[in-house]
Amino acid sequence: MVSLLENPLRIGLQQDRIPEPQILVIFGATGDLTQRKLVPALYQMKLERRLPPELTIVGVARRDWSTEFFREHMRQGVEEFGGGLRSDEIWEDFARGLFYCPGDIDNAESYQQLKAFLDELDGLRGTRGNRVFYLSVAPRFFGEATQQLGAVGMLEDPRKHRLIIEKPFGKDLTSAQILNQVVQQVCDESQIYRIDHYLGKETVQNLLVFRFANAIFEPLWNRQFVDHVQITVAETVGLEGRAGYYETSGALRDMVQNHIMQLFCLTAMEAPNSLDANSIRNEKVKVLQATHLADLERLDLSAVRGQYTEGWMKGQAVPGYRQEEGASLTSTTHTYAAIKLTIDNWRWKGVPFYLRTGKRMPKKVTEIAIQFKEVPFLMFQSAARQANPNVLALRIQPDEGISMRFDVKTPGTSLRTRTVDMDFRYDTAFGQPNTDAYSRLLVDAMLGDQTLFTRGDEVEASWRILTPLLNVWDVPAAPESIPFYEAGTWGPVEAELLLNRDNRRWRRL
Ligand code: NAP
Repeated sequence: MVSLLENPLRIGLQQDRIPEPQILVIFGATGDLTQRKLVPALYQMKLERRLPPELTIVGVARRDWSTEFFREHMRQGVEEFGGGLRSDEIWEDFARGLFYCPGDIDNAESYQQLKAFLDELDGLRGTRGNRVFYLSVAPRFFGEATQQLGAVGMLEDPRKHRLIIEKPFGKDLTSAQILNQVVQQVCDESQIYRIDHYLGKETVQNLLVFRFANAIFEPLWNRQFVDHVQITVAETVGLEGRAGYYETSGALRDMVQNHIMQLFCLTAMEAPNSLDANSIRNEKVKVLQATHLADLERLDLSAVRGQYTEGWMKGQAVPGYRQEEGASLTSTTHTYAAIKLTIDNWRWKGVPFYLRTGKRMPKKVTEIAIQFKEVPFLMFQSAARQANPNVLALRIQPDEGISMRFDVKTPGTSLRTRTVDMDFRYDTAFGQPNTDAYSRLLVDAMLGDQTLFTRGDEVEASWRILTPLLNVWDVPAAPESIPFYEAGTWGPVEAELLLNRDNRRWRRL
């Protein structure tokens, strides 16, 4: 039998090719993401010889920077956030491909100038008209920039022109649909790369390998054996000066709709027919279409939100959300969300998926835990403790790895049981750092591989699931109506009740 992962016809999820010569145009090149993530990630790929020598990067933003200044700013970014230059010679070579072209997204003339500049660079750098445009700007610019690029013909050739769009893609179902219409009027779906950097993480990709390259788990991966699934994305950080964005977003939009729903899809989807982008994305859409909040009549039984108050993190006093710079003193923005999802299909009917995320949690951790059913009958009543259900925990970050929890007999004459973990750790098994998510995704986009990017119908299907909740949580509420939790704790007490009601509890991480 040919395994999905050995099939020579596979085209997705692999990166042993070098992209064609091309120009990567970054809109928002003076911003945080470009300096902290994108250019360090590209430089890492340069060091690993994964980029074509002709690769050219053009930064666009309104600031009146020169190319020299841009190069210097990016060098600082690589040194500060990317692990250093490591080779002056390689940096010099990389920097020769960096250019800056001032421009305003709202100004049509800027696009004419950009087009002329890129055509000129084609001659200079041998980039053959191949372009990737990366919209690393505020979401309100996504539609405008796409239309303007389309208007001057810079997205007209699906074989040569691609568009990467940062998150968030829309702020609800309607806005995502409108944005999809706008970009799909200009581009073919095959040109659009909606980025969710979680999909670039090694451990997230490993979910597919783990599920579909091992024979022993798949027979257990269903309602007969699984009691429930918990997905946790916990952050220790607070607002970090992002009030302008976060006050209108909240945890549901910031984390659940994108990152957590991606983890959910990869955990719950059926095996794709092959590893090409559309086969995988078809399965993700299928499972999303079968999913809804557990109780649509009583949303309070399906979801809990919360906001952190002042508390302690690692021995340091930290302010509450409303005391953070830029946050309103009466804000009801939720910094914590927990939801219970139900999937109406043969594999998962009756198995709840509990998803939670929060800021100012005691620990930074992202984990998927598959909790199996209890044994039907426990013979060890005389033992001091009960048997614990088996748990398979997939640690996405940090301590990337997988552990399996089961009970064993403790040594000695008495029949006592203890729960132990069998642990796999990426760092000890492979001894090398994981590839940065942005490195992986940028090279994939340059290669034209959409597997790890979100398709238009997928992003809409994900918004659709959360819409009933957004409709309620977006309504202005009395300042005291939102549940609170102290910074440095695992969320509001109501979140415990969400599981206690089902005779379950959140994992202690
Ligand atoms: P940022 O630091 O605020 O940068 C915004 C960029 O947009 C600046 O370069 C700014 O340059 C440019 N800009 C603003 N108005 C413009 C206009 N009219 N024409 C041309 N350029 C304009 O934002 P960021 O943190 O880099 O984030 C960029 C995008 O990535 C956002 O969509 C964000 O949601 C997403 N994102 C960021 C992170 C992160 O870690 N930072 C993580 C995930 C997603 P000028 O002022 O010089 O024009």
